[in-house]
Amino acid sequence: MQRKIAKNILLVEDNPGDVRLVEIMLSHSENTLFRLICNTTMADAIETVTKESIDVVLLEMSLPDGEGLENITRLKSRVPSLPIVVMTGCKDDNFALTALKAGAQDYLIKGQIDEAQLSRALSYSIERKNLQEQITHMANHDQLTGLANRELFRIRLEHAISCAERRNESIAVLYLDLDHFKSINDALGHGVGDMLLKNVSKRLLDSVREVDTVARIGGDAFAIILEGVNETYNASAIAEKIIERVGEQFNIKEHVLHIGCSVGIAFYPHCGKDVDTVINNADVALYKSKSNGRNQYHFYTNEMDWQALNQVNTDTKLRKAIEEEEFVLHYQPQFDSNSGMISGSEALIRWQHPQKGLLPPAEFIPLLEKNGLISEVGKWVLESACKQHVQWQNAGLNIGKVAVNLSGRELIEQDFSHTVETILSDTGINPSCLELELTESLLIKNTERTQYILDNLKAMGITIAIDDFGTGYNSFSYLKTFLFDTLKIDQSFIQHVTEKGSEAAITTAMISLAKELEINVVAEGVETSEQLKFLQDKQINEIQGFYFSPPVTASDLTDILYKQQLPLRLQQRAVMS
Ligand code: C2E
Ligand code: CA
Ligand code: CA
Repeated sequence: MQRKIAKNILLVEDNPGDVRLVEIMLSHSENTLFRLICNTTMADAIETVTKESIDVVLLEMSLPDGEGLENITRLKSRVPSLPIVVMTGCKDDNFALTALKAGAQDYLIKGQIDEAQLSRALSYSIERKNLQEQITHMANHDQLTGLANRELFRIRLEHAISCAERRNESIAVLYLDLDHFKSINDALGHGVGDMLLKNVSKRLLDSVREVDTVARIGGDAFAIILEGVNETYNASAIAEKIIERVGEQFNIKEHVLHIGCSVGIAFYPHCGKDVDTVINNADVALYKSKSNGRNQYHFYTNEMDWQALNQVNTDTKLRKAIEEEEFVLHYQPQFDSNSGMISGSEALIRWQHPQKGLLPPAEFIPLLEKNGLISEVGKWVLESACKQHVQWQNAGLNIGKVAVNLSGRELIEQDFSHTVETILSDTGINPSCLELELTESLLIKNTERTQYILDNLKAMGITIAIDDFGTGYNSFSYLKTFLFDTLKIDQSFIQHVTEKGSEAAITTAMISLAKELEINVVAEGVETSEQLKFLQDKQINEIQGFYFSPPVTASDLTDILYKQQLPLRLQQRAVMS
């Protein structure tokens, strides 16, 4: 049989006869074991509830040093959750109601109390208080791990900050995120995921002092408050310990799991003086840890704030740029090195930024790639370039081919071939007039899939160019793997082709190799007549560069095309200034 645990009853009563009566009644109680403590004054009662663990107070309303409802209020102010059962000689229902409103759990009328009634009133009050506590606990704690939840974490941090302010101390807030938790959850199911979270929670609790708060604030996100941090109890040591402990192997069911975690740390008051700022900055520092490669910690710095802010702003602005059609295409003509006639053009994107003016692709393409918007923008580029090309042809202008740059992500998109097919048929461009430019970095990854997509594109009649050739690790080997139509020698070689023997030798080798493989070869970044002469001597096919024309608007290129109807002499300076 389970042993009954005695409940501590504090009886506050100055009438010895009533005290005796209660003693007798409680000693007969069958269901609950009561331990009775008696006080005759409010002063003693207040001392008792402060020092001892009292389960319920049985309170006489008329005492030598306290009268009426005030007695309830005084006790509650010391121990707010304390259940109080009022005893009164007065049989007034209104008074009873006021007592309940003041915080009493129940009331008994003297002279009408029997054993069962008293026992029940006391037990119910205790039960109700426990239930209340359970509900509060549930509202403030994470059901899975039992850790504090986001709400309680905020309350504790608020409290910690006000204490630290008085004591002139610092607090460290750690934000923590499990690395790649989702893949474990997806692969092994939520059951395993939940057990992993519970195990992580235990390790987190083991890594800090008992006074520190560890909270689960989201799926696989945790937060920790370290109060009174100074040199001896330093936050980086804790962060290191946490990363090490979480990084140790987990054995869950039959699975051996490894997971890392990233941590961001912000201090009160150095990184913020209120709850929201400290939390936000810990999150910013966490973002830094994650974007730096995970499984590491970072302290918040002001500089990060700007980076994060810029990132958020940029993302929003890029989306807006798409909606408001702020992207524009410029076209750089390419020339046939024999005839000097325009043989094609390369479409190059710019962002007509409402405040900053025309921005080059280097300033936003990496951002578009990072946030996944590149596919949408890439589709727009392809469609616009094809439309423009058809317009030139319809106007009777001979523009040859149009080249469009692709970023890696676009190419391996599920329905990229389909997108291209649709654009070809919607715009009516002759596929042989479209060239897609890929860089080597794009070919290194997903070789098989890339090969498959390139075969598809070539089957449609599109030509493929390898861009920035010579800058990768293994440029030449790609020429064997992939059947390119065009090779574009990177501008870094052309830049020094007339000054450095090595660049001249490599450029010569690239041109002769391309010729051998019957690949069209283009030199980019031609800026001087000496460079042009060198390349012509090596019988390069096409030339692109500032020497002839920078990238220009479609309407400017239209003018150039009209003027070109007059034979263009290759050695002439650019038609455009
Ligand atoms: P890229 O494909 O190598 O493009 C050639 C870059 O060299 C262009 O820079 C062009 O303006 C510049 N250039 C042309 N002639 C000369 C010259 O004589 N001297 C020098 N110093 N530079 C010259 P831009 O327009 O800033 O484009 C930079 C890169 O951005 C491109 O390099 C390409 O990789 C990427 N890009 C441009 N448009 C797109 C696009 O629509 N989609 C994707 N995914 N990438 C694009
Ligand atoms: Ca290019
Ligand atoms: Ca290039």
